[in-house]
Amino acid sequence: MAKIIRKPAPRKVAVTKKTAKTAAAKPKAVKTKALKPKSTKPWTPAEIHEVFSRFRKANPEPRGELEHVNPFTLLVAVVLSAQATDAGVNKATRALFEVADTPQKMLDLGEERLREYIKTIGLYRTKARNVIGLSAKLLSEFGGEVPRTRAEIESLPGAGRKTANVVLNMAFGEHTMAVDTHVFRVGNRTGLAPGKTPLEVELGLEKVIPSEFMLHAHHWLILHGRYTCLARKPRCEVCLINDLCRWPEKTV
Ligand code: SF4
Repeated sequence: MAKIIRKPAPRKVAVTKKTAKTAAAKPKAVKTKALKPKSTKPWTPAEIHEVFSRFRKANPEPRGELEHVNPFTLLVAVVLSAQATDAGVNKATRALFEVADTPQKMLDLGEERLREYIKTIGLYRTKARNVIGLSAKLLSEFGGEVPRTRAEIESLPGAGRKTANVVLNMAFGEHTMAVDTHVFRVGNRTGLAPGKTPLEVELGLEKVIPSEFMLHAHHWLILHGRYTCLARKPRCEVCLINDLCRWPEKTV
């Protein structure tokens, strides 16, 4: 008689309060499911080269939109720009940088008067504290200069990985990729570098973008996301790369 082999019953995963809480705690802003292309057709190196050649042809010297006069004011502007628009930050910093464009001048200005300059920017109290803190640290530990390594920049109050990437790229010409909300969206939608977190997208983009484009790639992708590949209504009909984009919901 044939022996009956029973398949083991699938293991039940108990949903504890802890696991439910962990799932619920996922950041809301990261909606990769809606952004991720269903197409699995991978990009070829030639296609990626073509994308960035088109960006370069259309805008050979892209510029960031945060106004600054030196690495220190760039650092301050980036710290102030968290959860704020570049235009809003520029409006406040034009007058601020007239009086405080070095760490020493910022300390001389003091936290209270700094708050007055930046009070139109969200979270300005915390940001004022951070700007004074980072100015003090630049003076005490870095001779008043903005340091040139990621770890050192990230050690400053209010500065994270994105801040370090922007400063290293714009002030020091490093091939870094700062991933903001626009770059995150474009990386996922196009399929160039899908990822659940900004870090995944950053590392994915660094891996696929040829070195010759890396100095400006961050700006091309930000500007593309800000003015063409808009979050709600992407302007696919005028998009430079609409024939290559992998997003199944593109409108062309
Ligand atoms: S085709 Fe549409 S979705 Fe794709 S990159 Fe262009 S604007 Fe964005």
